[in-house]
Order: sequence, then C-alpha cells, then structure tokens
Amino acid sequence: MPHSSGGGSSFGGSHGGGGYHSGGSGGGSSQRISNRPFPGSHRYVYYRRGVPVYYYSTSVAPNPVFILFFGVFFTFITTFIALIIFMTSVTTPKKVNGYYDYDIRIEDNQSILGDTTQLNNTLTKFRDTTGITPYVLTVDRSTWDISEYSYNMEKYAYNKYVKTLHDECHWLVVITYNNSNDWFFEGMQGDNTDNVLSEKKANKFNKELVKNIKESNDVSQSLNNAFDSSLSYLMDKEVDKSAIGSGCAISLFSIGCISVCIYAFIKSKGRNKAVEIKSDEKETVCAYCGGRYILSTVISCPHCGASISKAERKEAEENSAI
Ligand SMILES: [Zn+2]
Repeated sequence: MPHSSGGGSSFGGSHGGGGYHSGGSGGGSSQRISNRPFPGSHRYVYYRRGVPVYYYSTSVAPNPVFILFFGVFFTFITTFIALIIFMTSVTTPKKVNGYYDYDIRIEDNQSILGDTTQLNNTLTKFRDTTGITPYVLTVDRSTWDISEYSYNMEKYAYNKYVKTLHDECHWLVVITYNNSNDWFFEGMQGDNTDNVLSEKKANKFNKELVKNIKESNDVSQSLNNAFDSSLSYLMDKEVDKSAIGSGCAISLFSIGCISVCIYAFIKSKGRNKAVEIKSDEKETVCAYCGGRYILSTVISCPHCGASISKAERKEAEENSAI
C-alpha cells in the first residue's frame, strides 16, 4: 500500500510522513561479598601471594570459568548486534526495477502548469535515473476538501493512488494552487520506492518545493527545479546517524560489561579457592619460614611445606577455643 511522502502548503511550510522506533533491555545477578560479617554470611579465607585474605559471603564465589564463559558469550552477542546495526545504518539506493506502467502522467486540471515540455523532460530524466515514475496532478480544492475525504488532502491522494495506479513504483504529487496565499501539495509514494525516496530525502524535496513556490509562485517551474535538484541527492548513500549512535552505545555498554566480567574473573580467581572457616579462627605463624596460615585449612605449611605436628594442631585448636 502506498504511503504519504509528506507535503506542504502556503500556511505551515512542509511536513513529513511517519516513523518507527525499537528498543531492548538486559539484566543480571550478583553474589554479596563483604569485608565485614552480615546476617547469614560465612567467613572464608584464601591465599594471595602467601597471605591469608578473609571475606564474608553467603556462598563460595562462582566458578571463574563461568564468568569467563559469560563474558565471551556476551561479547559475541553484542558485537554481532552492533555489527548488524552498523551494516544496516548505511543505505545504498538501488534503482526501482520491475515490469510496470512507466508512463509519466502530468494532469493539469487547474490549468496552472502552462507548457509542460520542460517538466516532462525532467520527470523522464527522474524516472530513468531512479526507476520511480512520477505522476503530477493538479486539482481544485473542491476535489479533496470535502467530507468524502474528511477534508484531508492526504486521504484524497491515497485514494487517487490506489484507484489509478496498480503498482508500488509511482510517486504521485497532488497540487492545489489558487493564489500565493492558498496552495497545498501532498505526496503519495509506492512501497517499492522507499529505498530511493527515504523519509529524509522526501522531506528535503518537500522543503525545496515549498521554498520554490513561495519564491516564484510558478508551480511548473517549482516542480521542475525540485525534481531536477532531487537527482543530485536521491541516489546518494544515506547514513542513519541515530542507528550509528545506537551501535556505538551498544559497543560502549559491551566494553563496560566485559570490563566488569574481567574484574569479576580476576577477583573470583582467588575466592574460588576459598575455604569456609570458623568466625573466630586465628592465624598460625610457621616456626620455620614465618609464613601465615589458617591451621584448619592446611595439612602442612602452604609456604615452605613444613609439616604441622599434632601438638601444634592441638595448641591452635585450644587457642581458638578460648
Ligand atoms: Zn612455613
């Protein structure tokens, strides 16, 4: 079904067609870790460069391999999404192709266009370059400003397109011109023209046509110039800046999350080897190397390998019991 390419009038300048949005969300979970005890927490110890490190938590830290896997998986997904966004943010217009009615129509019911030879030549050039066949139609205001079309020129243009044109490759431009203070136009484009006649480019055309009519009050010349100059930009590549922005935002978010994963991985590496200990258990100093350790977590000194005698173990247990 065709849709509006926007329009303009002597009253409010130009206006555009429609738009669309998309969005997304994410989430996660975490394990509470603290340097101080909290309700429901247990005391844990692990060794960092031979020195016991304590922390309080409800459970042993998650497996670092899981964090690493999550990080790699997340990076893969977000990079893939960002790549697709970047790739689709640049549109290269392709000439509209297909078997359809290529006849250029200029129907001047208001007799305001005068000699249309030049306009016809420009519209032919426009069709041969873009593959879109233009249809220029001038009608009296009484044709569309009636209840049948809800006093709406866009509704009239839509009806006219659907009834007259039997493909989606045309661009119908309806114009009503009474005098310099009373004129309107409305565009209706087939779906197959979207690739060339994007919303942004149609808006540019509308603005130019409004400017031309305001300056010259010559509708034929204004149309001719607007169509002619549109050929200088219609087939240009188009970059969607908002999509590039979303792609960059996703990339930044991804980098942030990866950093958190790497940080969590490094942190959990030691904690993963942590052992739960009694909340009052004290450190033991090795008699041979001076290294510190928690007796209940080892069978020999973790620093020099010196064996721990039964007497030492008993003494430590008695100390912690006091
Ligand atoms: Zn030792």
